[in-house]
Amino acid sequence: MNEDHATGQLFDTACFVGIGHIGSSLARALRKHGLAGRILCLEASDGARRVAMDLGVVDGAFADPAQAVAGADLVVLAVPVGAMEAVVRAIAPHLKPGAVVTDVGSVKMAVIRDVGPLLPDGVHYIPGHPIAGTEHSGPSSGFAELFEGRWQILTPLPGTDEAMLAKLCALWRRVGSMVELMEPAHHDRVLAITSHLPHLIAYTIVGTASDLADHLQQEVIKFSASGFRDFTRIAASDPIMWRDIFLNNREAVLEVIQRFTEDLTALQRAIRWGEGEVLESKFRETRAIRRAIIDAKQA
Ligand code: NAP
Repeated sequence: MNEDHATGQLFDTACFVGIGHIGSSLARALRKHGLAGRILCLEASDGARRVAMDLGVVDGAFADPAQAVAGADLVVLAVPVGAMEAVVRAIAPHLKPGAVVTDVGSVKMAVIRDVGPLLPDGVHYIPGHPIAGTEHSGPSSGFAELFEGRWQILTPLPGTDEAMLAKLCALWRRVGSMVELMEPAHHDRVLAITSHLPHLIAYTIVGTASDLADHLQQEVIKFSASGFRDFTRIAASDPIMWRDIFLNNREAVLEVIQRFTEDLTALQRAIRWGEGEVLESKFRETRAIRRAIIDAKQA
């Protein structure tokens, strides 16, 4: 890391476009670590602006794009992936020359496609995605420690200003994250299998259970600790956010669903034909993956 960025404030004014779970968590973390002089937000909802101010997450909350971003040298786009284009259209004419714009969207190719062309020359766009979060939404659900020990993926575009990239890397490291640089298309393929498919499976299992007859549904809730409970937590994730993720990472998600369906069919066949050794060897492999995740402190 550039030693100049190891201590002290990194940005004069940070503006969060969207102050929900991720935006308010990063705002709190910037405050906690003294990384920005002033923290503002652009937020359409009166309620969310009030909560963000009352909790001291931001120093100023605006519904007007010009008031929110005009003085900011860091702008963080923290709205659902499908809303990125509209918010950038609104802020683009008011951005300060030399400002760094980053985003926290869970999909990278579609966001870069939607955001990149709208930004004026002289503004540095560095896309990103924190591999951190919970199933909760809104400004009151955020917390400053969310990013500690978690990966922050940045997908810088060709020609990115090295000094600005180093500054953004420093910001994420100082809120406790480990930073990885990645190609956007590679990011979308990796996340399709590690995050998007598991969410789709959780939504499916919980949906199937809720479609079953009434008496069975009650038993499902009563005995949920037997495995179902973990899926219900994932399936409680924000519906808009996840709708947008699937619509905007369509190709990569469809590819992993195809692979998953083939593997599920292979297990189905092993169960049908009583092939215990096939099941046992698959379950041994997957247990080793769990151990590797624990060893990597990502459990
Ligand atoms: P959130 O808590 O629901 O917050 C979303 C924010 O976006 C709110 O401020 C919301 O404002 C605003 N918003 C929603 N729709 C909008 C629209 N059409 N136009 C303008 N603003 C809109 O969601 P989040 O979990 O912070 O997610 C934000 C981003 O982080 C998403 O791109 C998501 O993919 C990414 N992300 C999430 C997680 C996670 O686990 N949650 C992890 C990594 C990355 P209102 O209150 O007015 O609706």
